[in-house]
Amino acid sequence: MSARNFLSDKAQRLIPYVPGEQPRDGVYIKLNTNENPYPPSPRVIEAIREAAGEQLRLYPDPECGALRKVYADYLGLLPENIFVGNGSDEVLAIAFQSFYADKDLVQMPDISYSFYPVYCSLYHVKAKCISLKEDFSIDYNAYLEPNNGVVLANPNAPTSIALPLEAVEEIVKANPQSVVLIDEAYADFGTESAVELVSRYSNLLVVTTLSKSRSLAGLRVGFAVGSKELICGMETVKNSFNSYPVDLLAQKGAAAAISDRAYFEKTRKQIIQTREWTAAELTHMGFQVLPSSTNFLFVSPGRMEAKDLFLALRQHKILVRYFDKPRIHQYLRISIGTQEEMRQLIEAVQEIMVK
Ligand SMILES: *Cc1c(COP(=O)(O)O)cnc(C)c1O
Repeated sequence: MSARNFLSDKAQRLIPYVPGEQPRDGVYIKLNTNENPYPPSPRVIEAIREAAGEQLRLYPDPECGALRKVYADYLGLLPENIFVGNGSDEVLAIAFQSFYADKDLVQMPDISYSFYPVYCSLYHVKAKCISLKEDFSIDYNAYLEPNNGVVLANPNAPTSIALPLEAVEEIVKANPQSVVLIDEAYADFGTESAVELVSRYSNLLVVTTLSKSRSLAGLRVGFAVGSKELICGMETVKNSFNSYPVDLLAQKGAAAAISDRAYFEKTRKQIIQTREWTAAELTHMGFQVLPSSTNFLFVSPGRMEAKDLFLALRQHKILVRYFDKPRIHQYLRISIGTQEEMRQLIEAVQEIMVK
């Protein structure tokens, strides 16, 4: 008898998210999952080392009090405006469950973070997918139409394009009856955050993460920033599922990361600089490069099939991301690594293309 027979009808219908490859042999240049190429702040390691002792015997603070205070101070808000989760993927799951479960007409772009449709199927949400425009930007007028929720990644993934803050505000203003969720996983790399609107709009939820711009994908810490009402609603759902999602080491490490502004600014600027250099090199080689406000580039090689380039780069021990999906099958998503890694990428592309 197959395991399938044990599953509930609902579980049998699920189509799970497929994460990017994490090779264990370490011989690859990894430009496929938008991780930060730089190590986390040394203060993070120090804080975790200090916390890794006798206290692990105890449950962590279920409220994440100290961490919420540090992040609230950083953003100029109150701890009541902050929800902490085990990576922003978990924060998104709890937000979908809290605000969109069993609803229809929840708007999102047809091309965006591929976890959104997974949560829709898990929480029985009927999404209304809105096509990106021809140039892959978000058709923001469509989100001014009546709906039961809006979910946008800004900047969007995998397209790398940002929607200006004024457009985000228009959407939030036009939908006072529904929760507008802005997933800002990449905002630190080049767009104005909607966090500054939170104190004025009770229907706005901004989701952030330490995985990308703070080099902490392995620690699993993400946040939702929103009105007291929204955050309180998410707490209720969280405490009906798992009261202790963020472990002690993660809470300590996360607080240390947020406190080290100088390190954050330095690495963030370096990545933006490397991104601009890489974009110029690829453009020079005839690639179409979408305007990126993120730590990755979304590019179409033009002179060769995207899938062939993806496979050829793999032979050169360079991993990038290819999506075999309508509209984007001629594109590759390339994470920004160190300057040296990107130099090797450009060299490999040159070699592949002259062959
Ligand atoms: C990477 C990513 C996330 C998830 O980040 P974690 O905090 O590591 O779970 C969320 N949204 C988007 C758009 C992302 O690219």
